[in-house]
Amino acid sequence: MAMQSPAAVAEAAAPIIRFDGVTKRFGALTVLDDFSFAVAPGEKVTLIGPSGSGKSTVLRILMTLEPFQEGTLTLGGHGYHQPGGAGAFRASEKHLRAIRCNVGMVFQSFNLFPHMSVLRNITEAPRAHGVPRAEAEGRALDLLGLVGLADKKDHFPAQLSGGQQQRVAIARALAMRPRVLLFDEPTSALDPQLVGEVLGVIRSLAHEHDLTMLLVTHEMRFAREVSDRVCFFNKGRIVEQGDPERMFRSPEHPETRAFLQSVL
Ligand code: ADP
Ligand code: MG
Repeated sequence: MAMQSPAAVAEAAAPIIRFDGVTKRFGALTVLDDFSFAVAPGEKVTLIGPSGSGKSTVLRILMTLEPFQEGTLTLGGHGYHQPGGAGAFRASEKHLRAIRCNVGMVFQSFNLFPHMSVLRNITEAPRAHGVPRAEAEGRALDLLGLVGLADKKDHFPAQLSGGQQQRVAIARALAMRPRVLLFDEPTSALDPQLVGEVLGVIRSLAHEHDLTMLLVTHEMRFAREVSDRVCFFNKGRIVEQGDPERMFRSPEHPETRAFLQSVL
């Protein structure tokens, strides 16, 4: 064991994301059991692990899309806590909105608004938060440039390929200038020939020093390339985590070894 594991470094740097003893149940099913996890500002972390192990649930809780029963979540200095099993958020809607503004999320299935142009998809959230139209559109055009789709601003989602739609979804997730960007299997729904263009955009974002990224993916080579830390997640807990080179070369835990053998 190294003196300072990546996890220890994350702990030391006043984390931007912190789960403290979070328990999440769906009825009788406990998906997260006393889950603790911290991510440092600017850190790029990948969660890998079998289907059904709770990876999406972690991201959805972070996005405040999913209530939890016990423990505390702290995001960008905004903490909230949920006692008991009621399943309702105790934080006010205003507090939740403040948390949400810090976080952007990209889903497996793009989730663009089908009846809105590409530009509107990206300006919608900033406009709803009071950003003047000209400024929101200026920002959206910059973001479309970043993902290589400036010429598609007036198209509708159905007129775009899956890879293009996902690049618009990434631009949309950045529109509120979040400090944290979450990706939930962003390339799993894409035809193989479209995966590269989306990974290319995520790779360029990974070079942004200030942006914290939490990525769930089955693209192991990509995870190795862009992550500061890889966490192997199974049955609602982190079994093993560390430097990607080390994890993929010599996983220590038998569960990690078995999983990596099944996907590599
Ligand atoms: P992963 O993303 O690792 O595949 P998920 O976080 O989606 O895993 O799911 C973890 C477990 O929680 C699974 O057993 C799944 O069936 C269950 N689950 C997820 N969402 C719900 C829900 N809304 N209602 C009931 N069970 C759910
Ligand atoms: Mg999932």
